[in-house]
Amino acid sequence: MNKLKLSLAQQQILDILKMQNKALSAYFILDQAKPLGLNAPIQIYRILKKLTDYGLILKLNSLNLYVAHELKPGQNYPLITICTQCQSVDVIDTPQLGSIMQQALSRKQFNASSHYVELLGQCASCNCKDSSSSFISK
Ligand SMILES: [Zn+2]
Repeated sequence: MNKLKLSLAQQQILDILKMQNKALSAYFILDQAKPLGLNAPIQIYRILKKLTDYGLILKLNSLNLYVAHELKPGQNYPLITICTQCQSVDVIDTPQLGSIMQQALSRKQFNASSHYVELLGQCASCNCKDSSSSFISK
């Protein structure tokens, strides 16, 4: 794969996402980018769109959040689990699901615009915290 040449602003936004290592809203990213001189929401959206197109970040459509993650080429329909409490994101490889999804979609002649499956829920550590606190309250 060719190494992409990112603009300084694109690299800065990518770095913000990588540093936070969780799903972020465009507004949060804008806040973080302001000290770097990136003040216009439209500019942030444009950069996020480009980084999404380059496959360097994922747009989580269900929550309208962004996360730094590079999908491997040919990686079809991994499960993206998103913790709605701490916004941590995990990518689970599911090769069998990928082929099932492709078959089902081609049967329906549906042209999917995203090639991953988003699942909302709670990550293991939030789940743990919750069950221990409900245990104490009993
Ligand atoms: Zn969590």
